[in-house]
Amino acid sequence: MIEADSISFRYHEDWVLKEISFRVERGEFVGVIGPNGSGKTTLLKILYRLLSPQKGEIFFERIPMKKMDRTDIAKKIAVVAQETQILFPFSVLETVLMGRSPYIGHFMFESEKDLEISKRAMGWTNILPFSERSIDELSGGERKRVFIARALSQEPEVILLDEPTANLDIHHQMDFLNLILTLNRERGLTIVMASHDMNLASEFCDRLILLQEGRIYKMGTPEEVITKEHIESVYGCEVWIDQNPISGMPRISLLKKGGIQR
Ligand code: ADP
Repeated sequence: MIEADSISFRYHEDWVLKEISFRVERGEFVGVIGPNGSGKTTLLKILYRLLSPQKGEIFFERIPMKKMDRTDIAKKIAVVAQETQILFPFSVLETVLMGRSPYIGHFMFESEKDLEISKRAMGWTNILPFSERSIDELSGGERKRVFIARALSQEPEVILLDEPTANLDIHHQMDFLNLILTLNRERGLTIVMASHDMNLASEFCDRLILLQEGRIYKMGTPEEVITKEHIESVYGCEVWIDQNPISGMPRISLLKKGGIQR
């Protein structure tokens, strides 16, 4: 569905992404992990064409994305960026309706159909009860669900998530990721999620891309990517890796210096 073919990107003189190639298949839930500054956010911005790579090409269903216009891209790919700054206290419903803008002509108002699609997205994300509230009156977890509803009202095929669980407590992390998993498994949405929470990524993602200084260090299933050797080499700190006793997925425990006694 999405194919990155040897993309390289730099903001200034230093290359921040270097010859990155990967594919995301329709219906996959892919995690992009890696240390701070390894290029996760930059890679997501390239996937929704906020940035264009200086080298290489991104294809969406075999069409070079540079040949697609912004409205076409917005009908296929929606983004939930890191904590979005709230510049104006729109209501929840107004915020979700903004997701319909690729379908609404200039100087036109939303139709009954737009309203229906937005309300359906609000139903899926359980935010209908506070549709008239201002988004600056919501908790972090509720606000995240509003931005997911806005993304869903774009009726996209892919949702890109940048550090979606940062600043959420464990209850809200689970609520949020279970919602994303349901959208992925039951509604067939393709998900690409940048996260530095490797335990959550291991638990929820089908496949992981581990970045190190702008290059792909390893790509594969969580079992293939999250190994002691890979994580210690990329992060430069001691870790202990075993399996989550319930799910069987790799689980990382952090250790203080000299922590491994065995
Ligand atoms: P991550 O999301 O993995 O923390 P980023 O993609 O944010 O990594 O950053 C990758 C590199 O690009 C870092 O070295 C960062 O300093 C640099 N960078 C990010 N945004 C900009 C920008 N707007 N201008 C210049 N350099 C940037």
